[in-house]
Amino acid sequence: MAIAYLTFMKHFILISLITSFLTMTGITHGVAQDNTTDSPTKQAVEGSISVLIYHRFGDDRYPSTNVRMDQFETQIKWLKENGFSFPTLKQVVDAHKRGETLPGKNILITADDGYQSIADNGWPMLKAAGIPLTLFVATSPIDAGSSNYMSWDTIRHLDAEGVTIGHHGASHMHMADASAKDIDADLQQANQRFLDELGYVPNVFAWPYGEYNPDHYAILKENGLDAAFGQYSASLGPASDLMSMPRFAINERYGNMDRFTIISNSKAMPVGNVRPSTPVVVEGENPPRFTFTSPQANQLTNMSCFPSHMEGAADIQFGPDGQIEVMLSEAFPPGRSRVNCTAPAGNGRWYWFGRPFFNFKGFQKD
Ligand SMILES: [Zn+2]
Repeated sequence: MAIAYLTFMKHFILISLITSFLTMTGITHGVAQDNTTDSPTKQAVEGSISVLIYHRFGDDRYPSTNVRMDQFETQIKWLKENGFSFPTLKQVVDAHKRGETLPGKNILITADDGYQSIADNGWPMLKAAGIPLTLFVATSPIDAGSSNYMSWDTIRHLDAEGVTIGHHGASHMHMADASAKDIDADLQQANQRFLDELGYVPNVFAWPYGEYNPDHYAILKENGLDAAFGQYSASLGPASDLMSMPRFAINERYGNMDRFTIISNSKAMPVGNVRPSTPVVVEGENPPRFTFTSPQANQLTNMSCFPSHMEGAADIQFGPDGQIEVMLSEAFPPGRSRVNCTAPAGNGRWYWFGRPFFNFKGFQKD
C-alpha cells in the first residue's frame, strides 16, 4: 500500500506539474456543487461513476486530443475484465437528477466535437465491446464540411446505431465570460441545426473547453438544456453540480494505465459547501479562499491537494465542524487552472475531488 501510494503520488505530482490545459481533477462526491446544492453531501452511497472525455481516436497528428488505438484497446479490455458497468448518458443523468448514484463501478464514455476518427476508430471498438458512447457535437464545424469532422450523414448513422448525441453549441465558443446574448444566439443556432439534421434537439450539454459559469445556467435551461458537463477530473457524485458535471480527460499523455485505473476506480469525495461557488476568478480575490466541508473530514486527513499553478501540494487546514480549507498561496495565472484533491478511500481506491478555476484577465484564448 505504501509503495502503491508513493508510486501514485510520484505519478500524480508529475502530472500536476505538467498540466496546464486538459483537466485532471478527480473525485467528486464532493466536488462541484456550485450553486445548486448547498447542503452537505448525502449519505455515502456505494457505487461510483467516472465520466471520461475523449476527442480523437488513432489520429496521432494531435497527441493532446488523441488516444492511440493500442491505448484505447487496453483501456476497454481492462474495463471489461474488471467488473465495470456501462450505463447510458440518460441513465447517468437521470440517476444524478434523483440524487442517486448507480450501484457498482460505472463508466460513461463521451467524445467531444464530432471528429471523423470517432466514427472510423472509436465507435467501432466500443460497439464491438457493447459499450455505449455519447457524442457531443458542435454544429458549425460539421456544417463547414472539413474532412477532420464527420458529416451529418455519419452522425445520423451513429445516432441510428444507438450513439447518444449531445449538445456542444454551434461555434464552440468560449462561454464563461461571453455575453448572455451571444451565448443565447449560439445555442439557438445549434438548436435549429440539430432540429434540421436530426429531427430533435439534444438536452444534455457539454461546455466548450469545459469553461462553465453558473451565471449562464439559466440561458442553457431556457434553451432546453437541463444538464451539462464540464471538463475537469472528478468522480460524479451527489455534490456534483448538474449543470457542470465533471469528466476526466483522456489523451495520449494521460492515457497510461496507471492513471486510467485510478480514475476509473475513483470514488466521489463526501464534501459539500464548496467555495467559491464559481470557477471564474474574480479580480481582487485572486487567489480565492478555497473551502469546503465534509461530514467525514476525519477520513480525509490524508488528503493531498495539488493546484496546477503551484509547485507541489498545497497546505490544508482542518477546522471545526468538518471545515476544510486548501491554502492557495499563489494567484491563478491567466487561463484555465485546477486543483485536484485525493485521499485514500480503502481497497486501493481513491477519493478524488477537483475544481477548475478560470482567470480571464489576460487569457489568450485558443
Ligand atoms: Zn469541444
